[in-house]
Amino acid sequence: MTAVAPLLLRGGIVGGRRQDIAIRDGRIEHVGAGLDAGGAETLDVSDRLVLPGFVESHIHPDKAYIADRTRGLSAGGPTPQTLVAELKRSFTVDDVYARARRVLEAAVRHGCTTMRAHVEIDEFVELRGVEALRRLQGDFAGVLDLELIAFAQEGIFRDRVTKDLLREALKAGLKTLGGCPYMDDDQRAHIDWFFETAQAFGVPLDFHADSGDDPAHLTTEYIAEQTIARGMQDRVTLGHLCMLDVLDPPHRARVIGRIRDAGIHVISLPATELHVKARADVRRTWRGVTRIGELRDAGVNVSISTNNIVNPFTPYGHPDLLRQALITAMAAHLGNLDQLAWLPELFTTNPARALGLTGYGLAPGCRADLVVLDAHDAAQAITEQSEKLYVLKAGRVVARNTRTSGLSLPRRG
Ligand SMILES: [Zn+2]
Repeated sequence: MTAVAPLLLRGGIVGGRRQDIAIRDGRIEHVGAGLDAGGAETLDVSDRLVLPGFVESHIHPDKAYIADRTRGLSAGGPTPQTLVAELKRSFTVDDVYARARRVLEAAVRHGCTTMRAHVEIDEFVELRGVEALRRLQGDFAGVLDLELIAFAQEGIFRDRVTKDLLREALKAGLKTLGGCPYMDDDQRAHIDWFFETAQAFGVPLDFHADSGDDPAHLTTEYIAEQTIARGMQDRVTLGHLCMLDVLDPPHRARVIGRIRDAGIHVISLPATELHVKARADVRRTWRGVTRIGELRDAGVNVSISTNNIVNPFTPYGHPDLLRQALITAMAAHLGNLDQLAWLPELFTTNPARALGLTGYGLAPGCRADLVVLDAHDAAQAITEQSEKLYVLKAGRVVARNTRTSGLSLPRRG
């Protein structure tokens, strides 16, 4: 790749103060007031909020943009898993590539600089999704870092091929293994297989876990126990965790304590929970969003992510993490001004930690993955869904966005 020219971001709001950011060789060289441009190209971002690049930590580009191929959800109707499983047989590599590419392009436009995507592997789609997403990994090099999870959406005990295909995907270089215990009858056997296989390949684990509302099926405590027993602290991530919300408070506090002690990362997927859960509830409709505030207060590393794009799981899904932040503020009672101020952690520093990214952030030496928002602070950015004026990947502008409007206003009386 050609060398990236030095760049100076002039006057942005960095860490709550007006500062310049000098970028050289793709990294942040200096942060401070009144820096000398030294001949570098200058971008005037005066009084605009600068955040580190957004991180999608749980997303499914391979099954995006298929809502028009099937029907939506209804109380008593088929699950989204069933609807999508029927469609997967017809997925070709080119079909997955085209739809997933649209997701990646939209994600970059909305400030995403690193994405960890689930790729479904099973008897229906086999390894066609893996092939398509690996092509995209190469095609987006330098624009978006794309990590892939070998993911068993259909469980592993319902056919004879998925376990072998997952191993094949790991051998081919996928860096994370993803399980889905609630898709198999024996959840513990499922969890055990994933821990054993992850240890054999030396890869981290990511589970879709406890997405229902029946505490009898809770797996988080077992996963935490296994994480510690096998020395995999900091290498296990749980998505969903909706069930936390229905546990009685003392039990919930115990489970949260176990998650923290096991160094497990949690990713909440609020848009999907709000769309999918509680379809059969006739009163006091359950929201299904995990207890993000309580997890954070307890010291758990908790993130939010987009999960699904225009499919039966979330027909209005869009890879825009600023939108997820607003949904989170509304759905998780996190909309007070002090909470809006820290919500960006949930799609920046926290998922960066869950993915084990190094050199991430706004400090000198960090890679210059940055988003400049047309807002003075996080509360305004989330409330107004402000435009992402610039998206930088390793010091290069990969997206510029503008919004225009014209008002015809009455004169002051
Ligand atoms: Zn998911």
